[in-house]
Amino acid sequence: MSQKLIIFLGPPGAGKGTQAERYTNHKSLAHVSTGVMLREHVERNTNLGVTAKGIIDKGDLVPDELVISMLKERLGEEDALKGAVLDGFPRTILQAESLDKLHNRSEIVAVVVFKVEEKILIQRMLERGRSDDNEETVKQRIEVYKKDAELLITFYKEKNIININGVGEEDEIFDELTNKLSFFVQ
Ligand code: ADP
Repeated sequence: MSQKLIIFLGPPGAGKGTQAERYTNHKSLAHVSTGVMLREHVERNTNLGVTAKGIIDKGDLVPDELVISMLKERLGEEDALKGAVLDGFPRTILQAESLDKLHNRSEIVAVVVFKVEEKILIQRMLERGRSDDNEETVKQRIEVYKKDAELLITFYKEKNIININGVGEEDEIFDELTNKLSFFVQ
C-alpha cells in the first residue's frame, strides 16, 4: 500500500492549518506542517532552528535542502505510513520535485487550494498574533506565496486539484473539504 499524500496550498492565514488538523484527525492521517516543525526547531534551539529563525522572522523561505530533508524524515515516521496532509509543503518547484522522487512509496492523491482575499488574510493574521505575524512579515509572506503558488498549481495541473473557498464558517469549510476529498480519499 502506498502512502497517500494530500497537499494543502493556500496563502498564510487561509485556515489550512486548522482544516488540516480536523481532516487528519477525522481520517487518521498525519498532519505534517513544515511551519509548525520549523517553529519547534526554533523553540528547541537546534542547528536548524538557529538557521531558520531569522528567515522566518523576515517572512522569507527557509532553504529548500533543509526543509526537504526535514520533511522526508517526517514522512518516514510510523503515523505517516498510511498517509499525510502536507500543510505548507511544497512551497517551491524544487520541493515539489523532491516529493515526486518518492513516487515508488507515496502518491499525491489530491491538491487542495484554499482561496481567501488578501484584505481578509491580513486582518486574520494580525488578530492571530503569532510572533512572526507583524504587518510587514505578513505582507511579505503573502507576496512570496503569490509568486510560488502559480508555479506550483501549474506543476500540479495533471493532479486532482480541489478549490476551497476559505471564507466562511469553519464547519462549512470542513464539510466542503470532506465532500470534495471523498472522491479521492477512502
Ligand atoms: P504561514 O502559512 O502563515 O506562512 P507557516 O507556518 O506555514 O505559516 O510557515 C511559517 C514560516 O516557516 C514561513 O514564512 C517560512 O519562513 C517557513 N516555512 C514553512 N514551510 C516552509 C517550506 N516548505 N519551505 C520553506 N520555508 C518554509
